Amino acid sequence: CHGTECVVLDGMTEEETAALLKGSETHVFEAEVNKMMKLIINSLYKNKEIFLRELISNASDAIDKIRFLALTDSDILSTDSDFKISIRADPEKGVLHIQDNGVGMSLKDLQNNLGTIAKSGTADFMEAVSKGDANSLIGQFGVGFYSAFLVADSIVVTTRKAGDEQYIWESDSSQYSITKDPREGDEHKLVRGSVVSLYLKDEEKDYLKESTLRDMVSKYSQFVSFPIMLQVQKE
Ligand code: ADP
Ligand code: MG
Repeated sequence: CHGTECVVLDGMTEEETAALLKGSETHVFEAEVNKMMKLIINSLYKNKEIFLRELISNASDAIDKIRFLALTDSDILSTDSDFKISIRADPEKGVLHIQDNGVGMSLKDLQNNLGTIAKSGTADFMEAVSKGDANSLIGQFGVGFYSAFLVADSIVVTTRKAGDEQYIWESDSSQYSITKDPREGDEHKLVRGSVVSLYLKDEEKDYLKESTLRDMVSKYSQFVSFPIMLQVQKE
């Protein structure tokens, strides 16, 4: 690869990146993911609010990761070194955004992390749930990102790794797509990190209410070492 325009992301060549984006208009989930989503929907419908615990914990993990990387590469934090998690309700559009300035995801990370089941605990969780009572198990296992489909019809993840392009992962739970973020304008640009935007189901719009969010956030924030900001319309 010659010339100054050549960008290599995560060890992928320009050609590979282009091929992944082009071929990735829509993807179907791995069979294991579909199984996991069905299991979550069928076993946790009485505990829908755990989605927020899962997304806050992912945001917190992502900040832990960038903080660790910054120990050996302080430039990586750039102008964005105040670690925080923001939760923003948009009642007009019916969207709940969970934002972090953590490590963010590259194209390859999106492909590997939000389309497959990469984590080791999942098989154990599925096995345990298929045998027993899901409600008593949710405290022991992180059920993960896909639990957001308990409350959302569709999810958009906007994300950027330090020094990388910004990407969008979108899904309605039956398939997903990954694209380079086409939006113009600074209001959409992340310095680094991720925004998980939940397009809430009609019957789950309560999760946009100040009182509901305040209670949930104070419950989960005890376990998180970074500040959580809540941006919501006053009731
Ligand atoms: P787990 O957190 O147990 O690994 P999840 O299903 O919650 O499983 O998340 C899957 C993966 O997606 C995570 O391991 C992480 O790599 C990636 N991920 C999810 N949310 C974020 C985020 N906000 N920032 C960066 N990576 C994330
Ligand atoms: Mg998680």
